Amino acid sequence: MAFEGLSDRLQETIKKIKGKGKVTEQDVKEMTREVRLALLEADVNFKVVKDFVKRIRERAVGQEVMESLTPGQQIIKVVQEELTELMGGNESKIAVAKRPPTVIMMVGLQGAGKTTTTGKLANLLRKSYNRNPMLVAADVYRPAAIQQLETLGKQLGMPVHAEGTEADPVNIARNAVAKAKEEHHDYVLIDTAGRLHIDGDLMGELQQIKDAVNPDEIFLVVDSMTGQDAVNVAESFDEQLDVSGVLLTKLDGDTRGGAALSIKAVTGKPIKFAGMGEKLDQLEVFHPERMASRILG
Ligand code: GDP
Repeated sequence: MAFEGLSDRLQETIKKIKGKGKVTEQDVKEMTREVRLALLEADVNFKVVKDFVKRIRERAVGQEVMESLTPGQQIIKVVQEELTELMGGNESKIAVAKRPPTVIMMVGLQGAGKTTTTGKLANLLRKSYNRNPMLVAADVYRPAAIQQLETLGKQLGMPVHAEGTEADPVNIARNAVAKAKEEHHDYVLIDTAGRLHIDGDLMGELQQIKDAVNPDEIFLVVDSMTGQDAVNVAESFDEQLDVSGVLLTKLDGDTRGGAALSIKAVTGKPIKFAGMGEKLDQLEVFHPERMASRILG
C-alpha cells in the first residue's frame, strides 16, 4: 500500500498522544520529534519537514489545542490538517479550454510512466468526464514509444496521431491539434520525448512544442518511488516550462511518500493525479485530504 512505512510510524506516534486528557509541552516536543524523524525517514525534503514540524508545534501548544477538552484529539486534527495542506489542500481541477480542443502536454523523464499515464489519463477523461480524447505520439526518438502509444490507443479504442520517427515533433504536435479540431476531439494529449536525464536539447524541444501549441495544461509525470530525485526533477522542469501540475506515478509501490509530501511545498505546483498500478484504469484524482486520512489511519 502507498505510504505504508510512513503511515505506521505516524500512527504509532499519534497513538501515544491520542487519549491524553492533558497534554504538556514536553509531550508535544516528543511527538513533534517523532513526526520529524518519520518524515525524514520517508525522504521528505529537509526544509519542508522543518517548516511542517514548526507549524505543528506552534499550533499544538496554542490555545486551540491546550484549552480544549480533548487535546490529544485536537493535535491529531492539527497534524491531519497540516498534512492535507502540505499535499496541496484542495484537489485541483483539470483545465477545459474555452474553445476545444483542450491541449495537454505530457512531459517527464524516460521510465517515469509518461506514456502509460497518457493512456490512463485519456481513459479517465472519457470515463469520468465524458470526454473524447485524441492521443499524439510526439516522442520520435524511441520507435518503441510510438508503438506503445498506438497499442494503448487500440486497447482504449481511441485514435493516435503519429507521423513516424522522421517527422519533427513540433510539426506533429501542431498537425495533431488541427486534426483534433476537425474531427471534434475535445482533448488532445501529447506524449513528448523523455530522456534519462534532463538536458538542454530536451528542454529546448519541449519549449518549442509549448510555443507551437500553447497547451492548456503541462503535466509533469514523475515516479513517486524516486523520492527527492522526483522533487528535483519537478523543480527543473518547472523552472524551464512552468508546468501546471504533477502526475505522480507508482504510488502503489511507494512505502515512503517523500515525493508526494514535498512536491507542492517545493515547487508550488499541485499533484493532480496519482498512478496506483500498471493497468489503464489505475489513475486516480489526487485528493490531499483523503491521502492525509489514509496516512494517519
Ligand atoms: P515512460 O518511459 O515515462 O513513457 O514510461 P512508461 O509509460 O513506459 O512506464 C514505465 C513502466 O512503469 C511501465 O512498466 C509501466 O507499466 C510502469 N508504470 C507506470 N505507471 C505506473 C503506476 O502507477 N504503478 C506501477 N506499479 N507501475 C507503473
